[in-house]
Amino acid sequence: MNKKILIIPGDGIGQEVTTWGKKVLEVIAEKNNLQFDFQEGIMGHVAIVATGDPLPDETLEKAKNSDAILFGAIGHAKYDNDPNAKVRPEQGLLKIRKELGLYANLRPILLFDELLAASSIKPEVLKGTDILFFRELTGDVYFGEKNRSEDGNFASDLMNYNRYEVERIAHKAYQAAQNRNKRLCSVDKANVLETSRLWREVVQEVAKQYPEVQTEHMFIDNAAMQLIRDPRRFDVVLTANLFGDILTDEASQIAGSMGMLASASVGDGTGFFEPIHGSAHDIAGQDKANPLASILSAALLLEISFGLKEQGAEVTKAVDTALKRGYRTIDIASSDTAKDKILGTTAMGELIVEILKEN
Ligand code: NAD
Repeated sequence: MNKKILIIPGDGIGQEVTTWGKKVLEVIAEKNNLQFDFQEGIMGHVAIVATGDPLPDETLEKAKNSDAILFGAIGHAKYDNDPNAKVRPEQGLLKIRKELGLYANLRPILLFDELLAASSIKPEVLKGTDILFFRELTGDVYFGEKNRSEDGNFASDLMNYNRYEVERIAHKAYQAAQNRNKRLCSVDKANVLETSRLWREVVQEVAKQYPEVQTEHMFIDNAAMQLIRDPRRFDVVLTANLFGDILTDEASQIAGSMGMLASASVGDGTGFFEPIHGSAHDIAGQDKANPLASILSAALLLEISFGLKEQGAEVTKAVDTALKRGYRTIDIASSDTAKDKILGTTAMGELIVEILKEN
């Protein structure tokens, strides 16, 4: 197997954690006699500084010519408090998603038993939770027309969806549900929003093609509540861009930390793999970031883009082994964690590489 992988570290802790996602891919290639050719691209604040563009053409070209992309995070404090900045890091991310046609964002909520105590939710409510989110990624208010009146006192964002946009992600979610526990919950706000009424109508139509999957429709407000009340009731959750953005961050607390969750964005071409967290300026450059979400993103890349399910599972198992041996980064440590088992970014990355090389 010969594959081209583009690494886009981005900003802040993106730089630190992606080093380890890439390293893990190198180890897997070496162990399995695979040829992975790595290239690097810039995006976000670093790209604005270097070129004035958050997604330079050169990075986009490399992305289009790759078989898969491993991304870190983008963002810089200077834009967070300046809503009027015209050129912004996140424009790069939105553009690459659109250009690569990455319409489905998959977020597995993978719960490692050792981290049950790290969540703010009671262990007995959490144990056994296994959810796969499908968040639509290229439509909704994020891409609809935006307006601000001349006097600055009125603003609007257009929420819109086309039938085909709902259909294609619904099929992906149903296909996944068929291979899991055969339950799909579609989340919308169909009692209020016309886009949600279209969403529900299309999902009901697509559902007919997957009779073995049990479908449930739930309003977003109820879903947000059920997710922490009884997360085990969910198997596959399918939802639109804005609702998915919020719901998946809420779900990240089930797994204990943003630093543990990976995601895959897919469409009909190159897949894009990234931790769900941002560039975390508060801890950037301090060797405190948890690299496990990036490492688990590399595992998803192996499984989804290259069909290397065994190798992906091996990476996930290495993470589990590190946790079972008691090692933690600071974000997932508890009061019971021994001081010498609390590792920085580099030490945790090195440990995972060591465990992978043990087998
Ligand atoms: P964030 O995810 O960067 O951080 C939220 C909190 O979680 C922080 O306290 C941070 O220290 C902690 N955290 C995040 N990842 C961690 C890790 N791997 N290990 C340990 N702790 C971790 O979100 P934010 O603070 O809202 O945003 C910071 C910047 O990131 C902003 O500029 C925002 O625009 C950007 N952002 C980018 C993305 C992306 O690139 N996909 C996503 C979200 C936010």
